Amino acid sequence: MTNMELEKLVRPNILALEPYSCARNEFSGVASVWLDANESPFNAPYNRYPDPLQLEVKERLSHLKGVPAESIFLGNGSDECIDLMYRIFCRPGIDNVVAMSPSYGMYEVCASVNDVEYRKVSLNDDFSINFDAMLAAADECTKVMWICSPNNPTGTAASIDDLLDFSKRVNCILVIDEAYIDFSSKGSMLAVLPQMPNVVVMQTLSKAWGSAGVRMGMAFACPAIVSLMNNVKYPYNVNILTQRYALEQLGKSDEIKAHVVTLLEQRELLKQQLAALPCVKKIHPTDANFVLVETVDADGIYNYLLDQGVVVRNRNRVEMCLGCLRITVGLPEENLTLINCLKNYGK
Ligand SMILES: *Cc1c(COP(=O)(O)O)cnc(C)c1O
Repeated sequence: MTNMELEKLVRPNILALEPYSCARNEFSGVASVWLDANESPFNAPYNRYPDPLQLEVKERLSHLKGVPAESIFLGNGSDECIDLMYRIFCRPGIDNVVAMSPSYGMYEVCASVNDVEYRKVSLNDDFSINFDAMLAAADECTKVMWICSPNNPTGTAASIDDLLDFSKRVNCILVIDEAYIDFSSKGSMLAVLPQMPNVVVMQTLSKAWGSAGVRMGMAFACPAIVSLMNNVKYPYNVNILTQRYALEQLGKSDEIKAHVVTLLEQRELLKQQLAALPCVKKIHPTDANFVLVETVDADGIYNYLLDQGVVVRNRNRVEMCLGCLRITVGLPEENLTLINCLKNYGK
């Protein structure tokens, strides 16, 4: 996609936007006396505004992910990155987006908030993506397509080749949400990011990195898209505590990898044990840290588990997920508690 093609997708008011220039934008060098931002001189280091572009965190991420820092955007969770896609590309009341369905609920909520039509395209029966139907659902007002791989709540992941191929066929921004990519056998699209100028890859610290409470989401895209995201975001969207914590956490990638290995082992064990239960009808294949399980009575089992103090996600009312519970892989003893409860279901 050329800059001209990108500009056609951007809302005219965003293209014309004169971004807010905060004190730390106007001077970010080294100084000994800071009297430019009306901060208090007391309570260091929290008295100072954080780096609006989070450069230290991006440097570390750049090394970790093999993506240049200017291709990285950081947000207050992926949820901020998701909302920004609508605010940058979709004219309220005019434009639309196309999304695979079922998938992550926030895409649709943010569409509603921004008054943008949300066109759902059902997955194939095996939960693979119906790429042709997604293309067929698009028109000249389609600005963004949503793909989640591995997908929440189905757990299914698409191959790099299929997604790369699809990115070349779409005439708009393609978001690929990789919140669960660390658990997947399929590999991240970041490896081919330079070949996909219209793609925004989203990841998060909330899942494999074990830091959902800290709120940091990442978007990877060509520098032109990242720059639009920087212009539209709140100036200090990632606070100083989150930036410091993220720097520390990103230094522990070996520890995180070990946790992922443990969770994958537990996932396989959980699948085996679930498969042996009479109340389980089907276990869907998964590339994530959860399993979508078709049961004989999702509402009944969900409420029974609640009574036992075990909370899973009831997906019974979600398209294509009739009878299904989504179960997150926990600690070995937590998974065991779940299995023991389910063994007693109906007794
Ligand atoms: C959990 C999840 C996220 C993470 O959102 P954060 O705002 O970063 O916590 C993003 N996308 C999907 C599909 C998810 O399931």
